[in-house]
Amino acid sequence: MSNQVPTDGTLLPLMEEFYTIQGEGYHTGKAAYFIRLGGCDVGCHWCDVKESWDANLHPLTEADTIIANAKLYPAKTVVITGGEPLIYNLDYLTTGLQNSGIKTFMETSGAYPLSGSWDWICLSPKKFKAPLPSVIEAAGELKIIVFNKSDFEWAEKYASQMPTGRKLYLQPEWSKAEQMTPLIIEYVKANPQWEISLQTHKYLNIP
Ligand code: SF4
Repeated sequence: MSNQVPTDGTLLPLMEEFYTIQGEGYHTGKAAYFIRLGGCDVGCHWCDVKESWDANLHPLTEADTIIANAKLYPAKTVVITGGEPLIYNLDYLTTGLQNSGIKTFMETSGAYPLSGSWDWICLSPKKFKAPLPSVIEAAGELKIIVFNKSDFEWAEKYASQMPTGRKLYLQPEWSKAEQMTPLIIEYVKANPQWEISLQTHKYLNIP
């Protein structure tokens, strides 16, 4: 899938980059430059960015160009997402961003070894490929996508592995939001260590 991507992280398969508002999780409501890397083999059946899966469809782009683009925007924050960004070595990109005064946030399933220098990691583990302990340890927030009732028990399995004090979020999967949101509300009322995360960008009709 990513054979031709050099391992030094200087070239990355870029699917899209855009300036918007972070819609989910701890940093909801903040302006950020989104960098979406192509390539994912986790295989979530409800994935809403399946066009990201094949890295070969997305042009190899100089990390320096991505950094220069991110510097053009007023919010000195990027969200690196995918696809699964940790398929790649993110050391070069994130160090370059931080050296430019830009905060580095990432959305990851945690299924690949941790690389990069991060100001915030959102770990959203998936049933189809378990997260690695190194990513669990480094994550500032755990965000569980709730697709059906059994996901609450599954969420607790990962919450128990998170270091003390990390943020815990339950987020309804978009196509199941009508059924799952009332259950999440009751769950959070009974288990207030959890908070609700909504895909507010979808309600706001922004990317
Ligand atoms: S990990 Fe993310 S990008 Fe990959 S299949 Fe799952 S939802 Fe889609």
